[in-house]
Amino acid sequence: MKNEVYGWMAPGLKKWSRLASVDYLGELRVPRIITPARQTSVLVLTGHHLEETSGPYFALEPDNFEPWMNALSFVVFPVINQYGLNFSADSNENFLRKNQWGINYNSGWGKPLKTEEVRLIERKIVRGQFEAAISLHEDSTTPGEGSFYTNGLSPRQLDLFSTIVYSDHGFKLAPKAIVVDEEDGQSSEYWLSKRRIGTFLIEAPFGLPMEERIAFVGYFFNAILGLVGKIRW
Ligand SMILES: [Zn+2]
Repeated sequence: MKNEVYGWMAPGLKKWSRLASVDYLGELRVPRIITPARQTSVLVLTGHHLEETSGPYFALEPDNFEPWMNALSFVVFPVINQYGLNFSADSNENFLRKNQWGINYNSGWGKPLKTEEVRLIERKIVRGQFEAAISLHEDSTTPGEGSFYTNGLSPRQLDLFSTIVYSDHGFKLAPKAIVVDEEDGQSSEYWLSKRRIGTFLIEAPFGLPMEERIAFVGYFFNAILGLVGKIRW
């Protein structure tokens, strides 16, 4: 059975094509969305792991981006993992997180051994092109708990995020100030953060209804975009 993300792709990309250019990289046809050019550009990556469905769901909906499109341009990779599309979200997670040769979609970034999709995407990311990068995942370590990681905010700015989130939405939040750690050395977020880009990893709370996960993603997404161009990372 196909992953539910597969069913969202064609209608989402069709809707996007009215506002942006949509193309497909390589024989695997990895979809890419490019919104009209503005002075400041933001990269959005998601769909590395297809049991984490809220990121692709969010990125395939242009309404989530449109309020920002006068001020910012976006390059969006809404569904990185093309192999996992062949498996439903309750499959063995090895099918959803890794390709047929066992390579995780969030490993090998900047390294020789990586998935074909990651190779195609890396080649399209030009140094200096992006002011910020946002990567959407879900945190499956603690059900109902989401996380937010960044290399781009001071501890004081990070405090502001956690305060607002607790009071407005009652999310459980485990904020971490730094994207980069030893285990992360091969992730897209680590690779981007090493390129002097403000890098933000949003991990929606796994296991909650889609509406809740999307609210979590949307909250951080909008908060981050409100800072782009105003602070220096
Ligand atoms: Zn993930």
